[in-house]
Amino acid sequence: MGANIVLGAIADDFTGATDLANNLVRGGMRCLQVIGVPSKEIDLGEIDAVVVALKSRSCPVDEAVADSLAALDWLRQQGARQLFFKYCSTFDSTDQGNIGPVADALLEALGANQTVMVPAFPINGRTVYQGHLFVGDRLLNDSGMQHHPLNPMQDADLVRVLARQTPHSVGLANRAALAQGADATRAHLSVLAKQGIRHVVCDSLDEQDLDVLAQATVLMPLVTGGSGLGQALPAQYRAQGWLDTISEPGRLAPASGGALVLSGSCSRATLAQVADFLAKYPDGGFALDPLALAQGEQQQQQALAFARRRLSSNEPVLIYASAEPDKVKTAQVSLGVERAGLLVEAALSQLAITLVNEGVGRLLVAGGETSGAVVSALGITTLRIGEQIDPGVPWTQAPLPGREAPLSLAPLSLALKSGNFGGVDFFTRAFEVLA
Ligand code: ADP
Repeated sequence: MGANIVLGAIADDFTGATDLANNLVRGGMRCLQVIGVPSKEIDLGEIDAVVVALKSRSCPVDEAVADSLAALDWLRQQGARQLFFKYCSTFDSTDQGNIGPVADALLEALGANQTVMVPAFPINGRTVYQGHLFVGDRLLNDSGMQHHPLNPMQDADLVRVLARQTPHSVGLANRAALAQGADATRAHLSVLAKQGIRHVVCDSLDEQDLDVLAQATVLMPLVTGGSGLGQALPAQYRAQGWLDTISEPGRLAPASGGALVLSGSCSRATLAQVADFLAKYPDGGFALDPLALAQGEQQQQQALAFARRRLSSNEPVLIYASAEPDKVKTAQVSLGVERAGLLVEAALSQLAITLVNEGVGRLLVAGGETSGAVVSALGITTLRIGEQIDPGVPWTQAPLPGREAPLSLAPLSLALKSGNFGGVDFFTRAFEVLA
């Protein structure tokens, strides 16, 4: 071990981890995302920040706390100077947790008496004023998030929301305090600490507020929030002399190998991206249908043959189950929602394994669940974060120890896009960014 990373982050879900990692790179840190707490030693020689991706957003509280503490333990062993607990910019949680209980457990383990809550992500329209979270011009509880299937957010007052999740006192650092600057904000936080206030919800309307907060909190053992704060912190690490100026923190090894897009997302943005790809490459796509997949191996074999043919002449390939809502409904009525999804995920995962083993070196996956299935089928546990393709979606690179020589020498370039992310030309432009 003996690595000396600057920042260690614990993210409560996979795409949230990537979002934070992406912003840390943009702030100037060389960043690695690990999926779960690593079970074996990994080389962190050239790494400034590690984000551990957990699945702790909606699981039982005890599990979220235990997993987060295990991640904390591992990150401290890697020398992390500051810890960051990352959750969604819409503060996704319930009265049971998991934000409050996880933050309390991390504070206790660190022997710290206070942390900040900074969910704001102003460029994505998430701002906080007088402790109230806005999505665009709507309060959180009027933004659509009040209907979320797992964590309906029915209160925009984060001080009140968090107070229901923790036995400790919750306070506020409002815009008026931030307007006085970083020193005054730090003084305000320490006054609150003397009053026994353990959690401080912080206003932030724009990047400037996040800069003030980053400066005021850089010496706190633990900060919590969204990826907006993540982009502001690296400049403060440089000011502390903890981090060098790195010219290309997102620089990855040159990409090589065939280009493949696998899409299991039926979100509106993805459907437009599929259509855009097919307009550019009318013979470049193969559609999978869960009803056909349920009949046996035949359709998957046809997709494989199709992909091999195009890859052998160096042309990009799209294999997609993405379909319009009525078609999805038909499959779901006949097969059940879960079975339809699993059939698609299994087919795309198997295609990924075979084609990556045969030389695909640049892989795009569309769909949050789909990405999780493909990454786990490929046995990937670490992702080095590269350049951003579109907001929140970077290229990444993963070592693939299982690949046969000589391919085993080349890392796999991988971009994982959840549902509504990415511009309409994402499936083609991503490969141009990589070149
Ligand atoms: P998103 O990020 O857009 O929500 P996900 O991959 O998370 O995408 O979820 C999409 C789900 O829909 C996956 O479980 C996938 O297997 C399933 N699916 C994809 N295509 C179809 C289809 N044609 N019919 C039914 N289910 C589908």
